[in-house]
Amino acid sequence: MMKQYLEIKARYPESILFFRMGDFYEMFLDDALIAARILDITLTSRNKNSADEIPFCGVPFHSAQPYIARLVEAGHRVAICEQVEDPKQAKGIVKRDVVRVVTPALVTESESLIPDENSYLLALCQQEGRWGCAWLDLSTGEFKASEEDSLTGAAAMLAAIGPRELLLAEGMRKELPEELGLLHGERTRSSVADWVLDKDYCSGLICNRFGIASPDVFGLDSLPLALLAVGMVLYYLQENRHASLPHLRDISIIRKNDFLALDPATRRNLELTATMTDNKKAGSLLGCLDRTATAMGARTLKQWLSYPLVQVDPIRQRLSAVEELVEQGLLRDQLVASLKGMHDLERLNARISMAGAGGRDLRALHDSLERIPLLRDALVGVESALLCRLLEQLDPLLDLQELINSAISPTPPFSLREGGIIADGYNPELDELRSISREGKGYIARLEAQERERTGISSLKIRYNRVFGYYIEVTKSHLANVPDNYIRRQTVATGERYITEELKNYEEKVLGAEDRICELEYTLFQQVRETVAAAGARISRTAAAVASLDVLSSLATVAVERSYCKPTVDESDCLEIIEGRHPVVEAMNLGERFVPNDTRLDGEANQILMITGPNMAGKSTYMRQVALIALMAQAGSFVPATAATIGIADRIFTRVGAGDNLAKGQSTFMVEMMETAHILRTASNRSLVVLDEIGRGTSTFDGLSIAWAVAEFLHDDQVCRPRTLFATHYHELADLAAARERITNLTVAVKEWNDQVIFLRTIIPGAASHSYGIQVARLAGMPRDVIERAKEVLKTLEEGEFEQGSPRLSKSSIAPPRKETAQFTLFEQQGDLLRERLKKLNISVMTPLEALNL
Ligand code: ADP
Repeated sequence: MMKQYLEIKARYPESILFFRMGDFYEMFLDDALIAARILDITLTSRNKNSADEIPFCGVPFHSAQPYIARLVEAGHRVAICEQVEDPKQAKGIVKRDVVRVVTPALVTESESLIPDENSYLLALCQQEGRWGCAWLDLSTGEFKASEEDSLTGAAAMLAAIGPRELLLAEGMRKELPEELGLLHGERTRSSVADWVLDKDYCSGLICNRFGIASPDVFGLDSLPLALLAVGMVLYYLQENRHASLPHLRDISIIRKNDFLALDPATRRNLELTATMTDNKKAGSLLGCLDRTATAMGARTLKQWLSYPLVQVDPIRQRLSAVEELVEQGLLRDQLVASLKGMHDLERLNARISMAGAGGRDLRALHDSLERIPLLRDALVGVESALLCRLLEQLDPLLDLQELINSAISPTPPFSLREGGIIADGYNPELDELRSISREGKGYIARLEAQERERTGISSLKIRYNRVFGYYIEVTKSHLANVPDNYIRRQTVATGERYITEELKNYEEKVLGAEDRICELEYTLFQQVRETVAAAGARISRTAAAVASLDVLSSLATVAVERSYCKPTVDESDCLEIIEGRHPVVEAMNLGERFVPNDTRLDGEANQILMITGPNMAGKSTYMRQVALIALMAQAGSFVPATAATIGIADRIFTRVGAGDNLAKGQSTFMVEMMETAHILRTASNRSLVVLDEIGRGTSTFDGLSIAWAVAEFLHDDQVCRPRTLFATHYHELADLAAARERITNLTVAVKEWNDQVIFLRTIIPGAASHSYGIQVARLAGMPRDVIERAKEVLKTLEEGEFEQGSPRLSKSSIAPPRKETAQFTLFEQQGDLLRERLKKLNISVMTPLEALNL
């Protein structure tokens, strides 16, 4: 047997092999050591203390699922090896084979899935700078692919999808670009052999799997890399024995221009689906907007926010649907009430297709379908195009409802093999067997009473166990009264066990019926499940409609509760927000009332908003609020403002100064410069750029110079003139607005009072004149001595008159650095003739008229 074990194990060296032996899955050798530790189960050995000692451990096969889930969660893959012939008929050692390998992304049991999250396998491949991406959620059947023209594009995909498992060609797995490696982190990486990445081979896999003549059917003809990535996924499924997957129905191609492009840094900075600090949903935009009632809805909302749209029409359709739900409170309430209690149709559907579903799953499907007519009734008479379409898409699947209701018992057991799963009245043969079995049981009860009377043994009992079947038990004190026709079978501590001829006759009838019942029920159940599985595409369409309805009503609920408005979206370059608020900061309500602010960005005077102001004034919050409002609008959500016009953006970029990648081995400044460079290279006139404190990571003058040059570039470049929000605490940058026509200065209103500063949080035109750094330091609880000393130093620096040893700084023996005014010439514009000329003037000898003319 160990020989067989080792042979099979050799084919799955990277997996923990679950080797089926009777009622257990056993693990041996190294696998046993790993599994015993992770699963906290007892480790034993064969041939103990000998040279060929074999450590092993095992788990019962009928409750293996949680153990498999734990191993997979710990990043292992588990190969399930079954007995593939009937042990009774086997000659020698029973044949065994691996029937399925479970990996983090190839797991479909609910224990291993997070309801609100997709569980993606993402295949990435690269050739000559182009990248193919294909991602599959096996638990729902969603299968998509795209092709990117750069590493950056591939990284954006990786960040947007956040797969549980990354699939690479072997060669690339060894040399994964660092950028991708960092994004994927510690999560599982798997590989396929390099030779798999062959166009013809992959085309063949696709055609076979989907029964089509050519991959062009899915639009893969012009996307050679996407085709390879899809092939990798299919090969990986095949290799891991996930053979029958009827719920993979098609592949949708994601094209670059269909969605708002968001790079990984922007996703992180804007905290779209997870917070920056602890990577949690709570505190993110998704956490703030998610009021969905179903897991499907929650996953879909995450997708809407992860891939906002860029075409006006579909966005308007979503917005009109939300609007209708906002206005029709009753409709909204009805929808929410009908959605509640709806199970995860997508995952149920997938489990049913893969024959992994039990009686409870079918019942859950039934109970969910039962609610569809409620949804439909609620939606009758809706006007918006999207709601009408969703109504049409909702199929109550009455045929399936009826089938399940008549076939499956209302409270089926967990097990499929022990009967009790099929409802009474569904199958005449089953009903008859059941009545035999029931009568038999009644007979036994009657026989027990009769025997008690006949023998006078009041404690006489008829019992059943697996070894002896039915038997009569008599306690010790009554043994003398046992009649002659009792045949003794077993002695136990408390008495004796007997059988009689009559008892055995009935037993045969009853037990025969029970065995037959279990068998028949299992067969009937499989038939029902197959019929339901055949309706998979219909269920899937309905599930998608339910998910969208859930998202729309969640968006509407939030909009009503927080007084969001419907934005106008168009193709202009204008971005105008009246009384905008930051959705998350506002909702968190940290004790301070949120102060709304207006925004106007356009291609003319307001291409770049230069926001100067002290730290802590609210600059970052303001800029993120603008980006989030644009993004929400393009996802189809109402926005936190009293009015908003959003000229569609093709991309949103953010560069935020404080991003701390030090733990990942890159200096903060380097990351900042790389991200800024990426923005300058990629932004278009339609983009929205948020730059927060760029240049902060280096010395003051370097930083100021870089910030200055970047702002000029964004303004002056002929190709890339994106709408930009630019925040800086270098108030010198405000000077740029004088020389550049499309730069507008803004600042945050601040009130000075008794040498203290109060932030009013209102954005006003103009530039900041002070940094108020010292006042902020005071707010932060810096010791009074330090504050006083800092003020002294500042004063000297500002006056620019300090020399070492100056009596005015007698407190300190070391002088602060002198401000190098010369550095500022860096920013004087080259060839600034006007300035030169002005300098040469001698005003005292000019006449008023000359001065005026000049
Ligand atoms: P800055 O970028 O200027 O350093 P932040 O944007 O980080 O400042 O804001 C500082 C603090 O002020 C944050 O804690 C934020 O919650 C709060 N804040 C910012 N804007 C507002 C506002 N409009 N209303 C109320 N609180 C605000």
